[in-house]
Amino acid sequence: MREFQVLLVAGTHGNEINASWLFDQWDKKPELIRTYGVKIIKEIGNPSARKKCTRYIDRDLNRSFLPDLFDSSSDDYEINRAKYLINRHGINADDPCQIAFDLHSTTAGMGCCIVIYGRRPTDLALASLIQNRLGLPIYLHESDKSQSGFLVESWPCGLVIEVGPVPQGVLNQQIIQQTKLTLEASLEEISKIKFGKSRFPRQLIVHRHIGSIDYPRDMNDQTEAVIHKERQGNDWQPIDLGSPLFINSTGDIIKFLDNTNLVPVFINEAAYSEKNIAMSFSKREVWFFLSEWKDALIDLIS
Ligand SMILES: [Zn+2]
Repeated sequence: MREFQVLLVAGTHGNEINASWLFDQWDKKPELIRTYGVKIIKEIGNPSARKKCTRYIDRDLNRSFLPDLFDSSSDDYEINRAKYLINRHGINADDPCQIAFDLHSTTAGMGCCIVIYGRRPTDLALASLIQNRLGLPIYLHESDKSQSGFLVESWPCGLVIEVGPVPQGVLNQQIIQQTKLTLEASLEEISKIKFGKSRFPRQLIVHRHIGSIDYPRDMNDQTEAVIHKERQGNDWQPIDLGSPLFINSTGDIIKFLDNTNLVPVFINEAAYSEKNIAMSFSKREVWFFLSEWKDALIDLIS
């Protein structure tokens, strides 16, 4: 029987440097992070981009886990990194990991949150345990055809830990501390499953992705209005019909014209301007915890 292992990836985006720094310190001081007996494998996702402190070299690594691209003749650095990580630590590799955590930071005022992609029972079960333990919001990214190929989707269970706000390329004690605490709590919850000591919650609160909007742009694709100060830093705060979204240089305000009580997230994230995303909208939902989620996660770990 194969040994149970958890893959931890930092620096998937080379300019998100806090988790990578934590890994370096952890290499020097193995007692720095408690793993509760869970065997872990650490990888820097994009070492070349990290050296240059840039998000990526040829393309976004966290949109490159696309099997169709693996068969192509592309020599993009990130496609090769994605192939390397799957060939080395994918579920069918020689040194397989069953669960992956991908550690990111954001320039948006998101605090610490968990991001999951789609509704895989294993992800929902593990996210529930972490939410129950730490009270973190969960952003459920789904139904977004313009974005795919996320790293964690290539493992049978995988979550992103996203912490902000922090500028790209800047170390910040609080961001490092939140990353470390979330990682330790997650590994402890996984260890409890292994030893049959888990207590799964009865519900899960998710913020389900609804869609994204771009900045207002002129004919040359230049940004014509900026995020309004009432929105900036107010991620996770529901907004009402008529709330200000953007303001231009002469003070004209562009308002939110929806009355469905959506919750904006990733407001003004620096890396998303190139993806034409000024902010995303989510809907807060409370879901009953399903026992099949628990069964799927226990199956995977034991
Ligand atoms: Zn990132």
